[in-house]
Amino acid sequence: MDAFSYARASDPDNAIQLVQRPGSYFIGGGTNLLDLAKAGVVHPLHIVDLNHIGLAGIDELPGGGLRVGAMARNSDVAAHPLVRERYPLLSQALLAGASPQLRNMATVGGNLLQRTRCPYFTDPGFEHCNKRAPASGCAAREGYSRVHAVLGASEACIAVNPSDMSVALAALDATVVTAGRRANRRIPIGDFHRLPGDTPQRDTALEPGELITAVELPPPRFQKHAIYLKVRDRASYAFALVSVAAALELDGRQVRATSIALGGVAHKPWRVPAAESTLIGAPLDEDRNARVAAAIMAGARPYKDNAFKVVLAQRAIVQALRRAGDMS
Ligand code: SF4
Repeated sequence: MDAFSYARASDPDNAIQLVQRPGSYFIGGGTNLLDLAKAGVVHPLHIVDLNHIGLAGIDELPGGGLRVGAMARNSDVAAHPLVRERYPLLSQALLAGASPQLRNMATVGGNLLQRTRCPYFTDPGFEHCNKRAPASGCAAREGYSRVHAVLGASEACIAVNPSDMSVALAALDATVVTAGRRANRRIPIGDFHRLPGDTPQRDTALEPGELITAVELPPPRFQKHAIYLKVRDRASYAFALVSVAAALELDGRQVRATSIALGGVAHKPWRVPAAESTLIGAPLDEDRNARVAAAIMAGARPYKDNAFKVVLAQRAIVQALRRAGDMS
């Protein structure tokens, strides 16, 4: 790992000021950044420590929503009584990610900014990776593509976003709140993560030096019927091959509202609202759920090793809707 300077930020404004130096990175829990720095994937010249700036609170918002500070630890969010009661989907997704030790360190802001685990990205021994080295090519397109995207990929990159938490936040229509030198912003979660396009080196809509301060959740709708279903190669401490955040608001068996987000299939959490909406106003029905699952995956374009994800995702959607609907 290269040498870097260290600065402890005292508050959010100070952090934004300190990170303006070229080569600066924020650090929260460090669970992803330090791995990448040790592997030589990133080369921080200056580290700005966010662990003493506050922003770890979890507070109710007027109207019934919740504001989760960007420095709240994943384990604290998952265990918080208001999160468990009002947003069980978020709690489930957080607990599906990483290990207890990592969740104790990892922050909400850092989880949103997790980099892909594409093996060609995380190992600088591979020369061709547009995300790590722009204009160098994409080794995964012709190489090992089992864990890669089937939706929304580009010629430049077929990587997937690894965050479980972000999939739940997408299903819950969360908002990412940021602060920067020029402006503070509120970014809908659907606009926060980017598709790779021609610039896969940019994972999110954040501007250089912009600080995530919180995630806000709207008033809850899916307390009773919500499932985060994660399919992976082993039962714990593994990234999703496919995951589904499925939430229903039911009147008896009649669907009043629904939200379905997918992980493990694209460069960002994947939603198809037009397909989701066809469930609304009708009774929950396995055949209809299967048609919605097929519609969500209709644009899929698999690569050499990952055609299985298309079928797996459809079956996972159907199973997640069934399990969410059967919750009492
Ligand atoms: Fe790099 Fe993306 Fe290609 Fe993986 S899929 S090698 S991250 S450009």
